[in-house]
Amino acid sequence: MIKLHFPEGQNYDCVMCGAGCESLWTIPVEPAVVEKIEAHPLGLRVINENGAAFAKDEAGNYAIYYKDPSDPRCGFLREDKLCSIHAEIGMDEKPLTCQQFPFHLTETPDGVFVGVSYMCTAVRQNSGRPLSAHEDWLRERMAKGIRITTIEADKVPVGEGRFTTWEDYAAFEEEFNRRRAAQGLELTAQQALVLTGQALKESQIQLALSWDRFEMEEMPLGGQVAAMLDGTLFALVKLFLDDTSPERILPLDEAFQKGEDLDFPEFNWKGTWFSLLRFQDKAFGDELEDELDRWADMQMHRKSLLIYRPLLDNLWMLAVIPRLVRCYTAFYAHQAGRAKASHEDYYRALRLSEMYLGTNGQLPSRLTPRFNAFLLEVV
Ligand code: SF4
Repeated sequence: MIKLHFPEGQNYDCVMCGAGCESLWTIPVEPAVVEKIEAHPLGLRVINENGAAFAKDEAGNYAIYYKDPSDPRCGFLREDKLCSIHAEIGMDEKPLTCQQFPFHLTETPDGVFVGVSYMCTAVRQNSGRPLSAHEDWLRERMAKGIRITTIEADKVPVGEGRFTTWEDYAAFEEEFNRRRAAQGLELTAQQALVLTGQALKESQIQLALSWDRFEMEEMPLGGQVAAMLDGTLFALVKLFLDDTSPERILPLDEAFQKGEDLDFPEFNWKGTWFSLLRFQDKAFGDELEDELDRWADMQMHRKSLLIYRPLLDNLWMLAVIPRLVRCYTAFYAHQAGRAKASHEDYYRALRLSEMYLGTNGQLPSRLTPRFNAFLLEVV
């Protein structure tokens, strides 16, 4: 029997909130599901109400259709937050991604790693039974056909059409986790970005051995990567504002460049960028840092660094998301007049970050080419 690896410290049982069905994620739909549902009265009803039930891209792939991207909501989600395909046709007729949400399975030469998505409310809140309690259900779904990402032993994508072996990646990941425990995710991700960029420029990629290039606690490239991540954070903070018109954004850019006060009336905040970062450090606190560690543990366990995009692209996301989460958590706390952020502030910020920057988010493919070009120029 195939070995399933479950993570420690992560719980889940569905609380039927429907939040996973209200995201802008690209949810793939199998052609057989499209055919069956579009011919069913339920499908016809949704097409009638929304204009379409499924979207089709240029390559002919189907996905869930969102009528209004500013208020993303699956057309099959009912007012009572239940899925109408599940309720009216049956669980087995839903797209595979929906059937198994929030589970994500990654098959590697060392077995199948069972992970979960932080777009799910219960996962973010760590509510329910340990993931291993779902083993029988998962094996049943696997027997019926389930979406599994496969990592090939000799073709682990690193970047720019370059690959390494699973063995090399596994040793790289082990050292990544050891360093993360000792020096934190921020610095470890920056070191990993630089060594991966350098490895891509060499004739043979050997990630695991490349860690020797950095001492523990050593800031790579004299802080150039950290500076780029700071600039990226500011760009994302602006991007997620409700108003992104030039009239709103240009004064922020000007104040940022001059080191003057930034005005964020949405969050009741006025102050310099550095004072915002100082407020954020105090507001976030150790308890939420532990929560963020649980998120990072899951990303490493489910092999997020290898899913959908090459390692280098995913490393950027692993470095960017915690920064954005801390900043928006602090904003939500300040908006509510609190000096200390609550778990609710954190969950809200994490959901926003996951929706746009997570594995199925739409921003990584737009951001990472620029990041990679910068890195490959400076390493
Ligand atoms: S987001 Fe998670 S908890 Fe909410 S309905 Fe979906 S699976 Fe259940």
